[in-house]
Amino acid sequence: MNRVTIFDTTLRDGEQSPGVSLTQEEKLEIAHHLERLGVDVIEAGFPITSPGDFAAVRLITREIKGTTICGLAHANPEAIDRAWEALRGAQSPRIHVFLSSSDIHMVHQLRKSREEVQELAEAMVARARGYTSDVEFSPMDASRSDPAFIYQVLERVIRVGATTVNIPDTVGYATPEEFGALIKGIRDNVPGIQDVVISVHCHNDLGLAVANTLAAIRNGARQAECTVNGIGERAGNASLEEIVMALNTRKDFFGLTTNVDTTQIYRTSRLVSDLTGMSIQPNKAIVGANAFRHQSGIHQDGILKERTTYEIIDAQAIGLSGSDLVLGKLSGRHAFKKRLEEMGYTLKDDELNRAFAAFKELADKKHTVTERDLESLVADELRTVQETYHLDHIQVSCGDHSVPTATVRLIGPNKEMLADASLGNGPVDAVFKAINQLVGVPCQLTEFSVKSITESTEAMGEVTIRIEGEGRMYTGRGTSTDIIVASAKAYLNAINRLLEARREAGENSIAYPPS
Ligand code: MN
Repeated sequence: MNRVTIFDTTLRDGEQSPGVSLTQEEKLEIAHHLERLGVDVIEAGFPITSPGDFAAVRLITREIKGTTICGLAHANPEAIDRAWEALRGAQSPRIHVFLSSSDIHMVHQLRKSREEVQELAEAMVARARGYTSDVEFSPMDASRSDPAFIYQVLERVIRVGATTVNIPDTVGYATPEEFGALIKGIRDNVPGIQDVVISVHCHNDLGLAVANTLAAIRNGARQAECTVNGIGERAGNASLEEIVMALNTRKDFFGLTTNVDTTQIYRTSRLVSDLTGMSIQPNKAIVGANAFRHQSGIHQDGILKERTTYEIIDAQAIGLSGSDLVLGKLSGRHAFKKRLEEMGYTLKDDELNRAFAAFKELADKKHTVTERDLESLVADELRTVQETYHLDHIQVSCGDHSVPTATVRLIGPNKEMLADASLGNGPVDAVFKAINQLVGVPCQLTEFSVKSITESTEAMGEVTIRIEGEGRMYTGRGTSTDIIVASAKAYLNAINRLLEARREAGENSIAYPPS
């Protein structure tokens, strides 16, 4: 067993990041990228939790055939049945059952005794096993559980057919030595453990998720649960790209491989960042903007003479290409489509038409269109939230001795033209107020950020915003060479998401079948 299984939970734990909500189509696009990346398992969602999650898992099950698709379930019969309903038809379906094993959780949350927890775990794994031969079990909060109790639980679930046992550091409390020792203890003390795969699922509350994962792997774990860019609950999960590149770069030390095609890492990372609106810190390992930049003169000098003097990873290994120039304004539709296909995007005809029109518009303003520009453009097309309101026209006047004024025209839900104007403290404020007057959705702006996608003043500006409305957070993103237009697009994008969530909730209260 010299291969580590990469279990990606970007679409499940990653999607639980505060402020992130992905549509089904966005999840599917990420799943396509994960398949290209070569992950072994995609945890596509938690079907019992919402009809949207259920539908997304079912959609991914139908479309993605080369990868195991996993659905999460609590240790309860309805959740397991619902997970199976979503997964049935997958080429390689896995049900992942979890149940808390720490005293803190058993006493305060579950209100069950140890014996009850053991019996329930066993019964639920057996139930899942009735549906598929690929069943994973997780004793939640394992790192704060009594190891002797975990051994007993694992022994029982293995006996009834669990094929992977996953040890989660649910709250990010473990340290590497301790967590490695826990894995070793499990290997040494659980009868039947040699016939199943030991997995780990680490959180990053102390910044130790990747270190803990690697310590577990050194002690015999052969599946790592992780997310692209390390997104996830609270401080996030272990980051996929860091685990994979650590194993890859230090093969001399670990002696292990993965099935991941590392040249797909950068693109997948960008897509996840674009669709979730979770930007990547510049100093983030592997995929941060500065990860391959050298500032000090001595380092630059060394790199020019011989790259390996100061670089342990070749940027091309993660898919950062040296040549940045891809297309210009004379490029045709065919070349555009081909380039996107090479980049891993499969657009439907109407999406392609819109993206091509946007590309032509951009190429007019900016003479070199880079791969990064294209990614952002395509992400705009893939951000498939239904456009209840569409931005048709915007005009702003501002300056140091004028009152910022915005005129906004939208196309509404019934294709009607809606126009209004507003004053504001600044141009963005004026635009948002004008949109509010037209849309009438009560919400609060909680975050606003602008950044340029590529360098130079003619670059595209990317605006990410978060709004809070009706008890939830929604992220919106918009791009344009004009940052006021990008702001308006981002704001409407977030509002359209809120409206879609509202519609879905309304429909579901009627249509959701009891099971
Ligand atoms: Mn988790």
